[in-house]
Amino acid sequence: MDRSGSGYFFAVSLAITAEAQDSGAPNDAAWRRADELLKKLTLDEKLQLILSKYPSNASPGGGGGYIEGVTRLHIPDINMSDSSTGSGSTTQPSSTFPATIALAASWDRQLSYDYGSEIAIQLRAQGFAMGLGGGANLTREPRGGRAFEYLGEDPLLAGELLAQRTKGTQSQKVMASIKHFAGNEQETNRMGGDSHIDDRTLRELYLLPFEIAVEQGHPASVMCSYNRLNGDYACENSVLLTDILKTQWHFTGQVQSDWGATHTTAKAINAGLDEEEGSDAGPSYFGRVPVIFALANHDITQERVDDMVRRKLYSMIASGVMDNPPHGGEKIDFDAARTFAQSVEEQSIVLLKNDRRQLPLSASNLKRIAVIGSHADVGVMSGGGSADTMHPVTGSFTGCEGLEFVDHNGCGWWRNPWLKIPVPLTKAIRELSPASEVEFSGVQDEQAPFRAYSPGEIVDAVALARRSDIAIVVVAQPAGEDFGDLRTLSLQNPSNQNELVDAVASANPHTIVVIESGNPVLMPWKDKVAAIIEAWYPGEAGGRAIANVLFGKVDPSGKLPFTFPARDEDTPTWGATGAIFKDPVYSEKLNIGYRWYDAKKLAPLFEFGYGLSYTHFTYSDLSLKRDPDHTLHVSFTVKNDGTVEGAEVPQVYLGVDYAGEPPLRLGGWSKIRLKPEESQQVHITVSPRTQSVWDTSAADWRYIPDAVVYVGSSSRDIRLKKR
Ligand code: BGC
Repeated sequence: MDRSGSGYFFAVSLAITAEAQDSGAPNDAAWRRADELLKKLTLDEKLQLILSKYPSNASPGGGGGYIEGVTRLHIPDINMSDSSTGSGSTTQPSSTFPATIALAASWDRQLSYDYGSEIAIQLRAQGFAMGLGGGANLTREPRGGRAFEYLGEDPLLAGELLAQRTKGTQSQKVMASIKHFAGNEQETNRMGGDSHIDDRTLRELYLLPFEIAVEQGHPASVMCSYNRLNGDYACENSVLLTDILKTQWHFTGQVQSDWGATHTTAKAINAGLDEEEGSDAGPSYFGRVPVIFALANHDITQERVDDMVRRKLYSMIASGVMDNPPHGGEKIDFDAARTFAQSVEEQSIVLLKNDRRQLPLSASNLKRIAVIGSHADVGVMSGGGSADTMHPVTGSFTGCEGLEFVDHNGCGWWRNPWLKIPVPLTKAIRELSPASEVEFSGVQDEQAPFRAYSPGEIVDAVALARRSDIAIVVVAQPAGEDFGDLRTLSLQNPSNQNELVDAVASANPHTIVVIESGNPVLMPWKDKVAAIIEAWYPGEAGGRAIANVLFGKVDPSGKLPFTFPARDEDTPTWGATGAIFKDPVYSEKLNIGYRWYDAKKLAPLFEFGYGLSYTHFTYSDLSLKRDPDHTLHVSFTVKNDGTVEGAEVPQVYLGVDYAGEPPLRLGGWSKIRLKPEESQQVHITVSPRTQSVWDTSAADWRYIPDAVVYVGSSSRDIRLKKR
């Protein structure tokens, strides 16, 4: 059977018409229209639609890639831009939202939809028809340089949030691309490392976020990754692209290569790659000459070329881009976007420690407030690389002296993730505590923003802390695409931040640490400080959001989307030496993240799903109902028995009794907001697949009955249990 032909499509689409309301959802009329349009195209026009016209980041409007349309048939151009944490246009100002990992810490599906939609509003206004922002590689390697661009260590959490983000993006008539498919969990040897992942691990963990997003979000595009997967480059891997993605998952959109990730013409085309991007880095394999040559040689078929084009036309029609392309040059409401950025951050900050109710702060008790470190008087840390926004509305730092893992030649927006913001933490605190004296101490050198604190600067910070009522120390862990992976989870850039925290905490017992990171962080000073919050890369409204949490204007409700280990040596990928392998072998199999710490009985510093609040929640009345099709309904009651309003993320975990399965897996969650004394019945539906294992011999999911159901406030704070 010709899987790529339209007959195949109709068979598939009939089975899934129930979901056809979403933009981008499988849609017969769109497919027929794409087929009609295809018949009118010449071969040259078809070939124009499978290769970017401009080199990377040289597209009009500062886009990353560009497919030129066919004017005579009213097929518009597809100008595309990165969009991990905001539009990545290299020439137009864009908002910088909190990093994607912050979004994951909100555990909020609706927020993820809105995040996709808000970024897409700016993309469209700037003239982009496609956003390349849907990263969902799992945090297998906690030191991963791009962990901040992804959605944490659990496939269900990542998949459901990615699906919502995709829908949000496409609700604005912007095509969404999800990435990096697949097995691209590290930056070490990023252009060709061979990830060895066994079938079951691949299906249950690394492919699952993409499977969920394809199923529920119907992305227009899937971006295959740089790495090899079990021998073949991801972008010429027929098992991955054709057998799994297009055939088994019924994906009807197009596959595009990561920038420079195409390595062949016939092999890639036959494996299922539909569009080449970033060929400026080398020869172009999907250019007119090599493709015509491959056709003449019968290395590829005309049917397959037609399929490549039809998929693109279909995605353009289904997403609304065909009939309503963006024109650019529209005004962006940056103030509204900043308000949204602030609300994302406020729902994502995780309160990790709060001894003797150090937080929230009360302005009336504070005469002097010390704010120390990480340029908290002017800005915040964001993630580097293609996920960064080049000309953020607010401006960047100019130098990156002191940043250890980059060569300094290319120090620009890509490499300097410090971001200036209009209301930095010091200013936001002054607004909330106008009678206090708020003083900053730390490095103030735009040219060397990452350099270590000098002994004199530490002495000054300690003196300031000593004469203040409280000391807020901000520490940061920069990371980014092309920076490589982190060597350690210990704070590195600047290199002596731990020393700074330790010295300040010795001087003032009311020391509060604010962390800006995209990775887990080791905290040798944990027991010495009064309170700790994880603020991630907080985006351009980060100052206000952090201050609002510190002063209790907002109850913190974020929960960790990955485990914070106690030591590097405890992490699943550390091995004997801590070396990150060029060709990683996923030998820990299903034991990613919390699954590893649970299976190995290792105590983490802070577990997956953890996060404190200024209020307290109790759990009761667990009941289970199993449908004949194995759908599991979990119900229980959550009550806010504290004194302030707050949001909780009740989590359902499953103990699936099957060889090789870790003790717990996430089965579902909800995010609820409750006033003091208010209670709510929570219903969580667990799909049969979430209760299944991948059966390698049957090449299918296998339902495992009678999973033990655990309900709690984190993966280790289990309050209720039933079978
Ligand atoms: C990154 C992708 C990005 C692309 C286009 C690549 O270097 O890996 O995530 O979308 O560039 O900028």
